[in-house]
Amino acid sequence: MVYFFIALLVILKVGLSYLIGLSGKKREIGFWASFLISLFFGFVLGLIVTFISKDLNQTRTIVRCDGCKKEINGEYIAIRPTGMNVKLDYCNETCRDTYHAGNMERLKSEG
Ligand SMILES: [Zn+2]
Repeated sequence: MVYFFIALLVILKVGLSYLIGLSGKKREIGFWASFLISLFFGFVLGLIVTFISKDLNQTRTIVRCDGCKKEINGEYIAIRPTGMNVKLDYCNETCRDTYHAGNMERLKSEG
């Protein structure tokens, strides 16, 4: 009977840690860190750490290429022309080479 309760507690603990892990999945911390912290250090700490961790959906800002206007995922080229309060982003070198000169002309003519 004692083993039954121990088994039940273990299942409950792993199950709850798994749920906390799932909520960590959408955050910077990730599933495994949330899961393991909950399992070994307790649910309270697991929950706190998980919810302090950045929400990936909220922190993800959309960057658009100033060349082809497509949404950029991952690495991109950012150019801050000196003396101007602007930043130009390009998805790759081809876009930069194709559009940057034109963009600079347009910005200068706009003042
Ligand atoms: Zn582009």
